Amino acid sequence: TQFTDLGLAKPLLKALADEGYVNPTPIQAQAIPGVMSGRDLQGIAQTGTGKTAAFALPILHRLAENRKQPVRRGCRVLVLSPTRELATQISESFKSYGRHMGVTVAVVFGGVKYGGQMRAMANGVDILVATPGRLIDHLNEKTITLEGVETFVLDEADQMLDMGFIVPIRQIVKRLPRQRQNLFFSATMPTEIEKLGSEILNPNPLKVS
Ligand code: AMP
Repeated sequence: TQFTDLGLAKPLLKALADEGYVNPTPIQAQAIPGVMSGRDLQGIAQTGTGKTAAFALPILHRLAENRKQPVRRGCRVLVLSPTRELATQISESFKSYGRHMGVTVAVVFGGVKYGGQMRAMANGVDILVATPGRLIDHLNEKTITLEGVETFVLDEADQMLDMGFIVPIRQIVKRLPRQRQNLFFSATMPTEIEKLGSEILNPNPLKVS
């Protein structure tokens, strides 16, 4: 398969051509069609496998097919990442793949002042990438709302567990709309992660590894 066979929106094919990407990696070929159609996904994947594009491309495709204004202080897509470095990388990938479609992306993590993040979120964004602790702080301050979330991505779930983020993740999930698409990624699936996944995912998710 080639990217041009997957039915992705034109601006995405243009961005992929800019990058010189022709063939999807195995996880991309498995994940993209299902996620484009709105299915939930449980992915067992390490970084370096093309995992980021495996979720970013079909998510951007769905945004391209259904453009609308995000809610104030809200987002249409929420991605949780364990570290600020990974969060920044993921937000850069969304900006890069979305460069021909005018998406708005914000990134929120701890250790920096709130002002810039509040201003970035004031009018809402299409995609928010956040670390769990700082997102909880914004939710408590009501400087971010999750009411408009259509798609939720939990990346590196096993690393989240190791870093003690399971409690904040459960708090965040409680505040998401009930009806939503969920993408759940982990490098490994120990029992506790499998359980967290089953709490978050809709029944019968697409499973890729
Ligand atoms: P990731 O696993 O998402 O961190 O991606 C690993 C690296 O592979 C990144 O630098 C991507 O830019 C690159 N990449 C992702 N998908 C493809 C692809 N289909 N063809 C070529 N390079 C890719």
